[in-house]
Amino acid sequence: MIPFDEGKCEHDVGMMLRAVAFAAERHQDQRRKGHRRLPYINHPVRVAEMLWSVGEVRDVVTLVAALLHDTLEDSATTPDEIEARFGPEVLSVVCEVTDDKSLPKAMRKQLQVEHAPHASWRAKAIKLADKIANVGDLTSEPPADWTPSRVREYVDWAERVVVGLRGATGPLEALYDEVVSAARMKYPAVGG
Ligand code: NDP
Ligand code: ZN
Repeated sequence: MIPFDEGKCEHDVGMMLRAVAFAAERHQDQRRKGHRRLPYINHPVRVAEMLWSVGEVRDVVTLVAALLHDTLEDSATTPDEIEARFGPEVLSVVCEVTDDKSLPKAMRKQLQVEHAPHASWRAKAIKLADKIANVGDLTSEPPADWTPSRVREYVDWAERVVVGLRGATGPLEALYDEVVSAARMKYPAVGG
C-alpha cells in the first residue's frame, strides 16, 4: 500500500482546483456544439473525471493536463501562462494534445492519426478520453447542423486516431469500444 503523504495530497488537490478554475475562466464564453449548447467546461471536467474513475489514473500531471487540454487550442491562453501556473510537465502534455491551428483542418486531422502512436502515455490517455467524450456526445446529441454522414465521418476518423492510442489504458479502451459500437449502430456507414 502507498503511504499517505499529506503534503503531496494538499499540493495535488490545490493544483487540480486551480486548473478547474483556470479552464472555467478561459472557456467561460464557449459552448459545446450539441443542440443543448452545454457550457464548454463540462467537457474537460468530464475528460479528467473519466481518466480518474474509468482509467484509474492517479497521476496529477495527467489529470491537470486533461482539465486544460483544450485551453491552448480553443482559447487565447499561451504556453507561457500554462507553464507559469502549472509547470513544464503539464505544459508539455497540453502541447502534445493541441493541434497546430495554423495548418489546414484536413492536415491537422491527418497529423493526429500519424502522431498518436508516438505520443507519451499521458497524452495517449487524455486523447482517448477526449475521443470517448466526443464520439459519445455526437451519438447522444449531435450538433443541429451535422448530417448523419458528417457524424459518421468523425467517428471513422476518431477510430483511426485511436488505433495509435491503444496500449495506454485498458479500461478506457474498453469504454471506447462500447461508445464507438453504439455510434456505428446509430450512424451506419453509407451503403452499410
Ligand atoms: P469539427 O472539428 O468541426 O468538430 C469536432 C470537434 O468539435 C471535436 O473534435 C471536439 O473537439 C469539438 N466539439 C465541440 N462540441 C462537441 C460535441 N458536442 N460533440 C463532439 N465534439 C464537439 O469536426 P470535423 O471537421 O472533424 O467534422 C467531422 C467530419 O465531417 C470530418 O471528417 C469532415 O471532413 C467532415 N465534414 C463534413 C461536412 C459536411 O457538411 N458533410 C462539413 C465539414 C466537415 P474538442 O474536444 O477538442 O473540443
Ligand atoms: Zn476535448
